[in-house]
Amino acid sequence: METISLSQIRNVAILGSTGSIGRAALEVLSKGDPRFRLAAISCHTQLDRFEEQIQTYSPKFAFATGLFNEQAKRWQSGDGGSTLSCTVRESSTDRLVSLVQSPEVDIVVAGIVGIAGLETALAAAQAGKRLALANKESLVVSGSLMMEAAKSSGAEIVPVDSEHSAVFQCLQAGREISEVKRIILTASGGPLRDWPIDKLSEATISDALSHPTWKMGRKITVDSATMMNKALEIIEAKWLFDLEPEQIAVVLHPQSIIHSMVEFNDGSILGQMSPPDMRLPIQYALTYPNRVQSPSPSLDWTQPTHLDWKPVDLERYPALQLGFEVAKRGGTCGAVLNAANEASVELFLDNKIKLTEIATICRQVLDHHHFSPSPTLSELLALDRWGHKEVQRWITSKC
Ligand code: MG
Repeated sequence: METISLSQIRNVAILGSTGSIGRAALEVLSKGDPRFRLAAISCHTQLDRFEEQIQTYSPKFAFATGLFNEQAKRWQSGDGGSTLSCTVRESSTDRLVSLVQSPEVDIVVAGIVGIAGLETALAAAQAGKRLALANKESLVVSGSLMMEAAKSSGAEIVPVDSEHSAVFQCLQAGREISEVKRIILTASGGPLRDWPIDKLSEATISDALSHPTWKMGRKITVDSATMMNKALEIIEAKWLFDLEPEQIAVVLHPQSIIHSMVEFNDGSILGQMSPPDMRLPIQYALTYPNRVQSPSPSLDWTQPTHLDWKPVDLERYPALQLGFEVAKRGGTCGAVLNAANEASVELFLDNKIKLTEIATICRQVLDHHHFSPSPTLSELLALDRWGHKEVQRWITSKC
């Protein structure tokens, strides 16, 4: 058996460990390369699942940002018969920022959902850590700040989003971005892809949450139904790979087996294929540039398989158009689109608006904001709050 020296050990912090990315990351770590050690996990409110994770995976540190129930208080005081292997500490974003910047952590898996994950991801980029980035909002909202921070600190941002991981993998072997004609992001089309356009406004919450190929959280599954997820991914790709929006194409690929492609200047196209399983891009973000055995299943080559693709219909998916526009304008637009979408998805999940109203609301909020080309982090966070309020104002004025 290979001996592993201390200098080879990489300490991993998984932020948002009880979410779908966090759970997959824990599974990868527990079955994968022994050179990776679990330094810390953090959660917000799913405390029962968090307790199970501590017992199963024995992290060195555990942080909960939403400690407010009796069980959590017992953990803090150490009584109540708790058998936890480490103390759960009540936490805040500031405390998580200190954690990711500390020498105890080499790799940060950014699995916190939404704007709540921005500051910790940015802190990891500033501190020169490897950032396994699942929180696409960090780049959508503050792509310029993130990429500048990584450039000056030497941080490695390795995407976990399956499409961006695919592009990242296709660009290995020393390929330069100047050799890229365009990238082609694949999209499953979401759970409603075969519905007639005039029926989309009737989609219920459960219709929108029944994704055909990916098992994900509620917010991102709704984003998949509206294709806002792909819109955010266009913006994410622009920052991550330093591309012009014209160099980003989207194609429908219902099987979710080709996770994205890169077309080079000579017309050759490289794609990355694997079964739809988030454990694979998570593992690659940890082990890159090495490839090690994975818990993901292999493609079954004994079965006939179709790989289809077809063009996207912007009339069916107006959110996509917003994605291209925001990628073009940059500045404050990403923060506003993201906030308006987060707030609108919440309203949809509360049964207060129709699914098709999400893109309409986002368009209105975006068109009404005061654009700035190079905002600071505090301006972006203020705009995020403004965007949420603006959506509330929209729904109130409608009632
Ligand atoms: Mg994706």
